[in-house]
Amino acid sequence: MTDTTHDATARAHALLSELTGTAPIGTWSAPGRVNLIGEHTDYNDGFVLPFAIDRRTVVAVAPRTDGRIRVASTFADEPVEVELSAVPTLFPSDEIPEWAAYPLGVAWAALATSGTDAAGLTGLDLAIASDVPVGAGLSSSAAIEGATAAAVNEVWDLGLDAVALARVGRRAENEAVGAPTGIMDQMAAMLGRDDAGIFLDCRSLEVEVVDLGLAAADLTIVVIDTRVSHAHSTGGYGERRAACERGAAAMGVPALRDVAVADLDRAEGLVRDGVIDEVAFRRMRHVVTEDQRVLDAVAVLREQGPTAIGDLLLASHASMRDDFEISTPELDAAVEAAMGAGALGARMTGGGFGGAAIALTPRDRVEAVTDAAASAFAAAGFTAPSVFTVAPSQGARRDS
Ligand code: ADP
Ligand code: MG
Repeated sequence: MTDTTHDATARAHALLSELTGTAPIGTWSAPGRVNLIGEHTDYNDGFVLPFAIDRRTVVAVAPRTDGRIRVASTFADEPVEVELSAVPTLFPSDEIPEWAAYPLGVAWAALATSGTDAAGLTGLDLAIASDVPVGAGLSSSAAIEGATAAAVNEVWDLGLDAVALARVGRRAENEAVGAPTGIMDQMAAMLGRDDAGIFLDCRSLEVEVVDLGLAAADLTIVVIDTRVSHAHSTGGYGERRAACERGAAAMGVPALRDVAVADLDRAEGLVRDGVIDEVAFRRMRHVVTEDQRVLDAVAVLREQGPTAIGDLLLASHASMRDDFEISTPELDAAVEAAMGAGALGARMTGGGFGGAAIALTPRDRVEAVTDAAASAFAAAGFTAPSVFTVAPSQGARRDS
């Protein structure tokens, strides 16, 4: 087991006990994720290669006899409670606090997806705690969705499989929370495996587990969390999506997945003719080349192993910085510092506008990378970063 010991389980149990005075009937958890490569390709029907990390969100569950569902989190001041019978029509809602729209949105989407009548179900108390940093680009959102989805699926006997539960999480995030994200995070949180990446075709949802071989190569992934938090629903994310849609429409394809690197010349012609605006072109060039980098990374991992993917990570970062324009000075500094201290490759990871960078790092360089990031941030006057390593780990599961 590669899981680092954190205390989310203990905190979830303590919160449940405070709430109900009882022990849980079960505890479920799901991990955050790091995207190794393939950024902003998911909603363009393309390819991604994330892995689940050894930091998890835990949901402890107790039954209720009064037909109500209550969610509580160590992240929030107050629990939120609703009638179970109200869940099917709960979203969209202006009244549910944003954090509670994640677990209640999952309950809502899980009932809808499975065609289950809320009337026959047991009420629940869900106590949630997490070891995934929130808003750091490690998808604490998919972790809370995955843990809640796994819990209600089993307690309510909904019979949904892991991919269906990933879709439930995405639906909750899109329609209950109102963040227009793709399916990548939820698939990683549901399907992760030890020392492996989840190579996902976001169009077909076909998944291949790809051995990362980090342990054997004495490599690790260092996360440099800039502690500048991003905001998906309000940031430039929607604008990026819209630009991608403009690009695909101008190219006459359903999604940018259908544009090959070789087609970019034609796209440039369309810019000259005024059919595609220059911004949409650069957004497109990022997505199209990023899709190719994911395919290349999978091939390189299989043929040469993880030491050989460093340049692809760096090229990915440059493309996000220059073409997709979602990096920040902190993320650029993190990548530069890591490379200067002996990382084999580095890139920002996650949606951008803050969050974290990752560095593929030989074990004996972890301390050097950590120190270099701290010094670079101090010299630039940035908030000190939080630096830690992650190991590719298992997806959602029942813990007890
Ligand atoms: P990220 O997924 O990168 O961490 P998001 O903005 O997508 O950032 O999701 C973070 C949001 O998810 C939080 O602001 C909160 O609303 C919700 N969330 C995540 N973890 C928890 C938790 N343990 N308890 C309650 N809400 C959480
Ligand atoms: Mg998220």
